[in-house]
Amino acid sequence: MTKKLTVEVVTPDGLIVKDKFDMVVVHSINHELGILPGHAPLIAPLIISSARLKTNNESMRVAIGGGFIEVDRDHVTLLAQSAETPAKIDVQRAQKAKERAQRRIQQKRDQVDFRRAELALKRAINRLNVVSGND
Ligand code: ATP
Repeated sequence: MTKKLTVEVVTPDGLIVKDKFDMVVVHSINHELGILPGHAPLIAPLIISSARLKTNNESMRVAIGGGFIEVDRDHVTLLAQSAETPAKIDVQRAQKAKERAQRRIQQKRDQVDFRRAELALKRAINRLNVVSGND
């Protein structure tokens, strides 16, 4: 039998996904990471991005709001600030969050607000991309 990865996606809201997959693809800072069974132990940061959990004939996308990946033998944990599968994403909410963030970026009130709005915009766009398969 081929070896599988046991993958857990964990957020402050709880366990979002726990299942066996053949491959995990995530986005760390400046590079994409592909994890297969037998990968060396690893801890790496995750940017606001999509994660792909793959089996032979299926690929599950998850919108990740930043966090960390830990690989320990064939156990992969995505410890994320937020994580949603496409079915759990409220498109209207993400669209509103996107527009709100764009307005705040245009207002440019102060550095803190600007940075916060930039991150909110990235989260919203990431969610919309994961729903539409544009990631
Ligand atoms: P919003 O401004 O709409 O709250 P946000 O990017 O600030 O968006 P987060 O702080 O990343 O939200 O997440 C807070 C919680 O809300 C998390 O549990 C996250 O999974 C959930 N969440 C945020 N946006 C959506 C969405 N569009 N659809 C489903 N769940 C969402």
